[in-house]
Amino acid sequence: MPLDIVPSVCPHDCPSACALDVERIKPAPAKAGGYSLGRVRGAVAQDYTLGVVCAKVSRYAERQHHPERLSQPLRRVGEKGRGVDAFRPISWDDALDEVAEALTHATQRHGSEAVWPYYYAGTMGLVQRDGINRLRHAMRYSREDLTICNALSDAGWCAGVGAKRGVDGREIAKSDLIVVWGGNPVSTQINVMTHIAAARRERGAKLVVVDPYRTATAARADLHLAPLPGTDGALACAVMHVLFKEGYADRAYMARYTDDPAGLEAHLKIRDPAWAAAITGLPKDEIVDFARLYGSTRRSYIRVGYGFSRSRNGSAQLFAVSCLPAVTGAWAHEGGGALYSNLGLVEIDHTLIEGLDRLDPSIRMLDQSRIGPVLTGDARDLGNGPPVTALFVQNTNPMVVAPESRLVHRGFARSDLFVCVHEQFMTETAAMADIVLPATTFLEHDDLYLGGAHTYLQLGRAVLPAHAECRSNHDVINGLATRLGAHHPGFAMSAVELIDRTLRLSGLPGVADFPQGGRLDCCPPFATGHFLDGFPQPDRKFHFRADWRAIGPQYARLPAFPDHVAAIDDGDPERPFRLVAAPSRSFLNTSFNNTPSSIAREGRPTALVHPEALKELRLADGDRVRIGNRQGNLVVHARGFAGMQKRVVIVEGLWPNHAFEEGIGINLLTSADPGLPRGGAVFHDTSVWLSPA
Ligand code: SF4
Repeated sequence: MPLDIVPSVCPHDCPSACALDVERIKPAPAKAGGYSLGRVRGAVAQDYTLGVVCAKVSRYAERQHHPERLSQPLRRVGEKGRGVDAFRPISWDDALDEVAEALTHATQRHGSEAVWPYYYAGTMGLVQRDGINRLRHAMRYSREDLTICNALSDAGWCAGVGAKRGVDGREIAKSDLIVVWGGNPVSTQINVMTHIAAARRERGAKLVVVDPYRTATAARADLHLAPLPGTDGALACAVMHVLFKEGYADRAYMARYTDDPAGLEAHLKIRDPAWAAAITGLPKDEIVDFARLYGSTRRSYIRVGYGFSRSRNGSAQLFAVSCLPAVTGAWAHEGGGALYSNLGLVEIDHTLIEGLDRLDPSIRMLDQSRIGPVLTGDARDLGNGPPVTALFVQNTNPMVVAPESRLVHRGFARSDLFVCVHEQFMTETAAMADIVLPATTFLEHDDLYLGGAHTYLQLGRAVLPAHAECRSNHDVINGLATRLGAHHPGFAMSAVELIDRTLRLSGLPGVADFPQGGRLDCCPPFATGHFLDGFPQPDRKFHFRADWRAIGPQYARLPAFPDHVAAIDDGDPERPFRLVAAPSRSFLNTSFNNTPSSIAREGRPTALVHPEALKELRLADGDRVRIGNRQGNLVVHARGFAGMQKRVVIVEGLWPNHAFEEGIGINLLTSADPGLPRGGAVFHDTSVWLSPA
């Protein structure tokens, strides 16, 4: 079949932002219609992606041409939550008119803050993801505090380093020791493994993984440390204790590049491996061995994941880990240092895309992670303002992904709440909507992408015609703006014009001047990338003393120096197990949880339970087990798994709610408590009981 290959960028909520080579299959001359999608491969020419993408995206045709893709605007005529059967097609004009009318009605009754545009990272493209904010600010709708993923990790990283950047991910290949801390790249960020494999092959590098369970990545490691969830800060402190005590600390480096090494050393005196062993559940000798390996390796690179930040003490944990290379001076060496994210590397002027020139900071901010309490009328969450009576949702599926699902479901079920969802599929959230609008995929619209794991800024152009009547987020926002009378220059621009103008305003080459293939490497010089010209803090030093007060209102509950912060839900005799709701390999949040190959690989919702715990419960592999806490309980199948401590229970993957016997998924059990010091979802900080179902 005729075929060509075009460049693109993976838009999904994953740090890799892979550069793609996309096969387009031309229709036979006799047939009507445009190109269809063939294989999706990693671009070999982009030297972070290096030709590798994850399996779920390589089979993107399954998603792109899925028979259940939404194809036309829909109005709900049946009961909420029933799905496609409850909807009837309507025209785009009628749909947009109805949405605009509903938003106007909500504004007239309760004021503009009664409308809450709600979005997240279903696409990471700056135009199609963030353009909703332009409408928000132009219309003075409630603001959204984006806490569900990186609020805790950003706070922890920036407390020490000062900005959201780190050592180029390609340098992993030049490391002698890679520590993957709180991440599972084999399942969730495969490109990291490409560079680790190069370091192992060419330099004999060692791989250490810190994760509460033996993930696919941990299974490939030379050393796997499995602390109890929420205790990584204690582990990091004990490692630093050994580094100071046994002469691995680089005092000359610290004197030049850090704020208070003497204070840190004194603080760590009593935080020794025995102290950490009692908190983490790790053997003391394992902590010492790891510290010696880390301390004796100049080119040591920590790839910092998100997992251990999803805890009430997550910022403090991530901050503690970020201190390690500042103690040994690993930052100074090629292949050394750490990377959490490079999303702060390129300074993009977001004014045009997000309408920041219309932002009024006095308008209330609602916490996206607390959408359950917000929609069920918690006065504190609402800032004592009006109820939310209209939601406009793009790029997210809170009926599954948000914590405290029971409250979220109750909120969406309100009869006085108008909901419009712009989506590619009839998600659980779309099924609760009054109006559903069909959305394009990344292959059908233009966008601009930063990458957390690398240093490229990438253009992704539309390479396929829009499916059926689907429209891009940008087009829908502009269509609503026209009907609502919202004014901003961004509403009159095409996505490409918006990208071009944004690039130029940011001092970057415009669209026409981008390198061929649309990939601009923004890698800074070595000295800047390794902070040898100073850390991006006001005093140019790495901070061992975190200024939490400058980061969030709950600063008083966090100590200045790295520490174990015992603010976690550590259970009690009724809830002895620590639940981690970890990502699966074949789903990405709820994206891909409806594609046949992903479902086939993941099987069914399953709890990994330590074999001894399973035995004590008188359960065997495959038996049904009920997991519960004060928020509720649900049934999954159990599987014995010895690669973790006995108290730990793992349930991987954000399965659809209907995959559970009682129609509600794992976030029934997770808490919407805000992490310290400025909020953030605490998905891996949950204590539960288990019983035979
Ligand atoms: S690894 Fe991440 S960025 Fe790369 S193709 Fe898969 S989901 Fe997309």
